[in-house]
Amino acid sequence: MDKIVQLCKTRGFVFSSSEIYGGFAAVYDYGPLGVELANNVKRAWWKTMVQEREDIVGLDSSIFMSPRIWEASGHVGGFSDPLTECKKCHTRSRVDHLLEEIGIMADEKMTEAQINKLLDENAKKIKCPKCGKSDFSPAKSFNLLVKSNLGNFTGDDEDPVYLRGETCQGIYVNFNNVVDSMHVKIPFGIAQIGKAFRNEITARQFIFRTREFEQMEMQYFVHPNDEMRFYNEWKEKRMQFYLDLGINKENLKWHKHENLVFYAKEAYDIEYNFPFGWKELEGVHARGDYDLTQHSIHSGQKLEFMNQETKEKYTPHIVETSAGVARTMLAVLADAYTEEKVGDDIRVVLKLNKDLTPFKIAILPLSKKEELIKPAHDILNLLKSKYNCDFDITQSIGKRYRRQDEIGTPYCVTVDFDTLDDKKVTVRDRDTMKQERVAIDKLEEYFSEKF
Ligand code: ATP
Repeated sequence: MDKIVQLCKTRGFVFSSSEIYGGFAAVYDYGPLGVELANNVKRAWWKTMVQEREDIVGLDSSIFMSPRIWEASGHVGGFSDPLTECKKCHTRSRVDHLLEEIGIMADEKMTEAQINKLLDENAKKIKCPKCGKSDFSPAKSFNLLVKSNLGNFTGDDEDPVYLRGETCQGIYVNFNNVVDSMHVKIPFGIAQIGKAFRNEITARQFIFRTREFEQMEMQYFVHPNDEMRFYNEWKEKRMQFYLDLGINKENLKWHKHENLVFYAKEAYDIEYNFPFGWKELEGVHARGDYDLTQHSIHSGQKLEFMNQETKEKYTPHIVETSAGVARTMLAVLADAYTEEKVGDDIRVVLKLNKDLTPFKIAILPLSKKEELIKPAHDILNLLKSKYNCDFDITQSIGKRYRRQDEIGTPYCVTVDFDTLDDKKVTVRDRDTMKQERVAIDKLEEYFSEKF
C-alpha cells in the first residue's frame, strides 16, 4: 500500500488536499494523471450502464436538495456509525471496524445496544489501532450527514441543509420527471455519477474512505414480481464490469449481508482484496419499494407506474447498484501494480487495462535537437485527436521508458535519427518491452489495431 500511495503522489495521481496548509483529513485531490484515470473509470461505467443500454437513462441531480429528502430517506434519524474512543490515547474508531479486525461482522444496521453488547463481550480482544490498548468508551451513534449553512442567514443550527450523503436520493425524487419526459417503460433504470459527502469517523486507507467522494449509482425500477430475477441479473453484470476492467478474478468476491434492514430482500457487496484486506467495492441491493414509498408519503406526490396496456398501477421495486469511483481506482491500481526483475533492476509497471491508462501513447524524441522535436510533434498532431498522448523530452530514453511503465502507458513511440531517413519510429510495448519499427504513415492503422 505504501508503494501505491508513494507512486500516486510522485507520479501525479493523488495528492493530499490542502497539503501546503498541513493537509485536510480524509480529503484528497486528483492530480493530472489521477483525473484522467478517474474520468476513464467513470466513462467505462457510463458506457456500460447508460450508453450501451436501451433501458437506462442518465441523470445529474444537484448536491443540495430539500432537507426533507433526508428525513424521508431515514438519513437524518438513522444514517450513523457506532463510534468509540480509546480511553488511553483518545483515538476515535468505528466499533464495527474494530470488531471486523478480530473477525466479528457487526452489521451497520445494528442498534447502539447490540453494538455495545458485542463491544463488551470482546473488550479484551479489541485493540486500539493507534496505541494497542484495550480500553474503550461505550459506543455512541454518530450521524454521517454533513451539514451546511446554505440559505441560513441567522447563524443558528436549526433546519440545516445537508450535502448529499448518497447520489441515489436524487434519482428517487426525479422518478416522475423521468417517466413523464422520457416515456420509459418498466423495467428501466436511472444512472448517475456524482459527489457524495459523509462525516466518516475513521478515514484511513488513503482514497478508500474519504469524506468527499464520488459514487456511480444505478437504480433499476422493476415490477414487484420480477425483483429477484433482475437482482440476480444485475449481480452478474456488476461482477463482470470489474473483470472487464482487467481486475484479477481471485481478487474479487461476494459478501452477503446477514442482517438485512426490514425492507431489503437481499444485499451483497462486491469485495476487492485491497492491500489492507477484503473490503467493499460496490453494493448490489434489492430494496423493495421502500425508497419510492417513503418519498411518496413524505412529499404527498405519488411515485407510481402505470402499465398502459394492463392498466395495472403499482409502486416499482428497486434493484440498486452502487459503486465508488475512488475505490474502483484504488482497486485497479493495486491490481495493476507490478514489480519485475529486469537484469539487476526492478521495473515498476502498472499493467492497467488500456481503456483506463491516463496516456495511451508517449511520444519520445531521442534528443532535444530541433530536427527530432519537429517530426515528433508532427506525430503528436497525427495521434492526439484519437489518443491522449504524453510528449516527454526530459532525461535519458531508458528513464523515460521506466516513467511511462510506472504510469501504465501502453506504448512509447521513439523518434530517433534514423527516423529522418527511413520515416519509421520505434514502438515499445509496456508489457513485453518488445520494440518494433513502424512506418510513420502506418502509425494510425497500427494503433487502431492495438486499441
Ligand atoms: P462502508 O461500509 O465501506 O462504509 P457503505 O456500505 O456505507 O460503505 P454505500 O453507502 O453502500 O457504502 O455506498 C456505495 C459505495 O460508495 C461503496 O461501495 C463505496 O464504493 C462508495 N463509498 C461509500 N462511502 C465512501 C467513502 N467514505 N469514501 C469513498 N467511497 C465511498
